[in-house]
Amino acid sequence: MDASTARDFSRRLRAWFRRHHRDLPWRRTRDPYRILVSELMLQQTQVSRVLEFYPRFLDRFPTVHHLAQASPGHVREAWEGLGYYARARNLHALARHVTRDGGDGSLPAHPDALRALPGIGAYTAGAVASFAYERRAAAVDTNVARVLTRAFAPRLDPKRPRDLTRLWGIAERVLPRTGTATWVHNQALMELGALVCTARVARCGACPVRAACKTGRTFRRNSE
Ligand code: SF4
Repeated sequence: MDASTARDFSRRLRAWFRRHHRDLPWRRTRDPYRILVSELMLQQTQVSRVLEFYPRFLDRFPTVHHLAQASPGHVREAWEGLGYYARARNLHALARHVTRDGGDGSLPAHPDALRALPGIGAYTAGAVASFAYERRAAAVDTNVARVLTRAFAPRLDPKRPRDLTRLWGIAERVLPRTGTATWVHNQALMELGALVCTARVARCGACPVRAACKTGRTFRRNSE
């Protein structure tokens, strides 16, 4: 993929997002703790369900300090209904870690430093760096991997570790230049994966990046 294709893809994607994105509460904040809570909840849980639990959880534990001081039982209770309780356990462990020994509870901005925290993988580190700190960092989850595969590397299989590493490389190459634009770009990639280029169907006919997408260009040729 050359630099102009990457720029074109990102520009189209961001323009579409500005007009069509859903207004979700975690897109209205840059608070790292709140972003982290949303990212962990959104792993393996649908947006509609997270929308119910997210405000309730934050009412109960509005800061990382409130969460750190809570008992495991209370954290579990607040997470009840979201499933995959290991996520809550990891979040609680992280809250205790960053507030221990007089720690001020802040989360680091660099993806490498975020990854060193309990329960934070490569995707979550990139998401917090980008969505809370507006860092120029890639964040590749299942949805993003699917979009990038279809758009730039249809022969790759995101389930194969080696191919996933290559997709992270592609994700880095298509990032826009600034952190602010990266915030929009990463949100837009996820939104495209949720609404247009879904696991079930690729709606190429309605896709804003079709002209810059390998799979989309095939679709156009076939449908003309
Ligand atoms: S053109 Fe089709 S395959 Fe490409 S990103 Fe859009 S929906 Fe997905």
